[in-house]
Amino acid sequence: MSGILYLIPTPIGNLSEVSPRIISTIKEVDFVACEDTRNTSKLLSLLGLSKTCISCHEHNEFGESEKIVNQILNGKNVAYMSDAGYPCISDPGSILVKKAIENRIKVVPLSGPNAFLNGLVGSGIDSSHFLFYGFLDPKEGKRKSELEKLKNIEFTLIFYEAPHRIMDTLKSIYEVLGNRQICVARELTKVYEEFIRGDVKSIIENYGSFKGEMVIIVEKNPENTKNNGVLDGFLEKVNDLTSAGLSQKDAINAVSTLFNVNKNKLYKEVINNKKD
Ligand code: SAM
Repeated sequence: MSGILYLIPTPIGNLSEVSPRIISTIKEVDFVACEDTRNTSKLLSLLGLSKTCISCHEHNEFGESEKIVNQILNGKNVAYMSDAGYPCISDPGSILVKKAIENRIKVVPLSGPNAFLNGLVGSGIDSSHFLFYGFLDPKEGKRKSELEKLKNIEFTLIFYEAPHRIMDTLKSIYEVLGNRQICVARELTKVYEEFIRGDVKSIIENYGSFKGEMVIIVEKNPENTKNNGVLDGFLEKVNDLTSAGLSQKDAINAVSTLFNVNKNKLYKEVINNKKD
């Protein structure tokens, strides 16, 4: 009978975020496949665990996945771990998971640490719809054309970035996306955890550099969500009619017919206004 592939998230800074389930799963598997055997062995020894680790990283994942899948098909249970956070999230693991699924192997992801979710929920930026992009291209031209594609997306945007590129990336964000509200969430779960919130221009002006690891959270395109006052007068009319006893739907229909205002836009504004 075939074994199981467990996907194990690892701490992004705080060792105590390793759950009892993660520990018991590592104890039970036959071996650990990982991005970097030195880093994973070190983590295992800090946790008081000892297990054979084999390497499966971005440069050998294709060939190694084949071997790991064969071992699982022969009944071995395997845990896959990347260096930090979830495997497959800006980290290797996806090829292994895909091959496991093609071979009808059971894949069991465990819950645990991940940098962008901590960054997002602590940022204060709307988390109802978001797009996690991962790393932008290091080259300015490519980075900016990636940002151009994201410019009109009506979701919060989330990026990973390295400290030596953060200021260049913030400048590209300012130049392409405009002066949006952002949050740089750095050193998450560590002693110097910090959330730097504000508009991107003032963050660039006030900080020359950032140290440590960081996630950038960017508010969605404000142009797409605000009516810049254009519909304000019509909102008032909708409110007058609902106060006079009309249902919201009838009030919106009446105002859009009487004043030739787009019904869907008006509806969206009524809803947005209620949230505010
Ligand atoms: N697999 C990881 C995850 O699930 O979050 C991401 C790995 S990716 C190679 C590394 C990037 O994640 C860093 O460059 C940084 O953008 C982000 N990151 C990792 N740890 C972090 C931390 N403690 N605080 C802020 N960002 C972090």
